[in-house]
Amino acid sequence: MKTVLSGIQPSGQLTLGNYIGAMKNFVNLQQDHRCYFMIVDLHAITVPQEPAQLREQSAAVAALFVAAGIDPEKSAVFMQSHVPQHAELGWLMTTLTSMGELERMTQFKDKSEGKESVGAGLFVYPSLMAADILLYNADLIPVGEDQKQHLELTRDLAGRFNHRYGEYFTVPEPYIPEIGARVMSLDDASKKMSKSNPNPGSYIALLDEPSVIRKKISRATTDSDSEVRYDPAGKAEVSNLMTIYSQCTGLSLAEVEKRFEGQMYGAFKKELAEAVVSVLEPLQQRYRDIRESGEMDRILARSAERARETAAVTLAAVKERMGFLMPK
Ligand code: ATP
Ligand code: MG
Repeated sequence: MKTVLSGIQPSGQLTLGNYIGAMKNFVNLQQDHRCYFMIVDLHAITVPQEPAQLREQSAAVAALFVAAGIDPEKSAVFMQSHVPQHAELGWLMTTLTSMGELERMTQFKDKSEGKESVGAGLFVYPSLMAADILLYNADLIPVGEDQKQHLELTRDLAGRFNHRYGEYFTVPEPYIPEIGARVMSLDDASKKMSKSNPNPGSYIALLDEPSVIRKKISRATTDSDSEVRYDPAGKAEVSNLMTIYSQCTGLSLAEVEKRFEGQMYGAFKKELAEAVVSVLEPLQQRYRDIRESGEMDRILARSAERARETAAVTLAAVKERMGFLMPK
């Protein structure tokens, strides 16, 4: 059975981009894979986080995983910081990474652009991400398009380790959806939808009230044309809305085009809002039930225990190979 691993940062409210690009695939893959899904809090602190908010967002992301359909009986759902081996292997991986490799990372460039002070953690984040994946010898990594470059680095580091110290790590493969790998911002289709965007109008949060969802979609940027046609280069905004519609209804992009032939953007946006609401409303109900039940603490504890067992074996094997004097 192949191993699947992925993570989401508790760095804000989860968005429809996170759902379409990543979580939907988590749910599909768990049927026939050994799955590890993490709330990557050690990554979230690579940009400043307010402690009370970080704690609340972490609890919210964990409950949203389960609300979205991840079955904790099948998959491990845990906090990255509950498995200390991540930080330790992260350091070992940092020492295998070159500055040049990190300097090429577009996420670092995007997130540090225009900032007066940038934490060193943001720079070395991809080495920690490599450790997250390699600790479990994961085969498949379901992520959005934006993580492809980081995953390429993980593959290089796995290969480098294997070359220097003997074959040990599995070289992981990205698992990127064909449609919805890069959901764009509602206010600017040249940027991806991101939960850490300071403008809440740029994203649909999974926990947005239906009235807020309707308002955000009605205000989403379109173009001066009036045709609902898929053309990501020429009609980026409308194409993005069509992608969201397709992902919420299961219709292909050609079917979406056909459905709205001859209709104005207003009619399309109205139906789009209803399609999004009908996916998110039941998810929100499950979310509230899980938060109220207090069940999440037990799920997180049980999953972390399982994760630590595997992670400890990997870390010991890695340290042994790298030449650390092992405790007897
Ligand atoms: P941040 O702005 O804090 O980086 P984020 O929205 O980018 O938040 P992450 O926690 O970095 O979210 O990413 C979680 C997962 O969601 C990753 O697999 C990432 O590729 C995916 N993802 C993030 N944004 C999008 C998007 N706009 N479209 C599709 N997938 C996305
Ligand atoms: Mg991100």
